[in-house]
Amino acid sequence: MFLVNAEKITQTLQWMEAIGIDEVIFDDPQNKAVSLDQLLKKNRTEDEVTQTTKKQTASSKPLGTATASAEAVKIAAACESLEALKKALETFEGCELKHTAMNMVFGDGNPASGIMFIGEAPGADEDRRGVPFVGESGVFLSKILSFIGLKTRDDYYITDVVNWRPPGNRDPSASEIKTIEPFLKRHIELVDPKVIVTLGAIAAKTVLDDAGSITKIRGQWHEASINGKTIPVMPLLHPSFLLRQAVNKKKTWDDLIALKKKLETF
Ligand code: URA
Repeated sequence: MFLVNAEKITQTLQWMEAIGIDEVIFDDPQNKAVSLDQLLKKNRTEDEVTQTTKKQTASSKPLGTATASAEAVKIAAACESLEALKKALETFEGCELKHTAMNMVFGDGNPASGIMFIGEAPGADEDRRGVPFVGESGVFLSKILSFIGLKTRDDYYITDVVNWRPPGNRDPSASEIKTIEPFLKRHIELVDPKVIVTLGAIAAKTVLDDAGSITKIRGQWHEASINGKTIPVMPLLHPSFLLRQAVNKKKTWDDLIALKKKLETF
């Protein structure tokens, strides 16, 4: 008879949650008993641990941020279309987030619409579906955008600063952002929007090269210089922040009205 050790299972689940595995991603139950048993072996020697770490390092070959970023600049610059950029990003090995995510999230919507929204990083729902802003905050975003006439994804284009979900929904690190920033810049160049709308502090900081606190800069027009071209940028508060702190929704409503006025001049 197969006896389940409740304490072992509890420990394993706690460990998984701590490293960011916080949901079930298969439709069918998976028998992990053998490998979990190995993972939980208390008598694992130091030597074994070192060997495993060495093997992992050798197989994933992480590049330093500067090297990966320099490689990203070259690869992204050679892409002449969004499809080419997406393919290049899929095979890019410089960002570790790729190895913990289920899917890459590239972009969605209409690149010819003239308006490009840039969020922070995919969450669990986006990771599962490979499409940006399809979870709770995405549904809320779609709703508020419909109030200013952006009724469907055909009315705008949307992407994220980083294209893979950071484990456990943590913020993307500065080095992760730096590494794939050349892809974001090329993404912007290829979409060639009339305006950019950033969602949240990380997107504003990345696109505007750190223009200041999001609570101070939101709702005003700024300018981004993307590889020599100047593009108007409107930073908004992040929709998931608005869901957590509903008191700020009024501010975003004012910001959306300013955005709508600009869109009417197109
Ligand atoms: N939050 C983001 O910033 N991007 C997404 O795609 C989803 C949630």
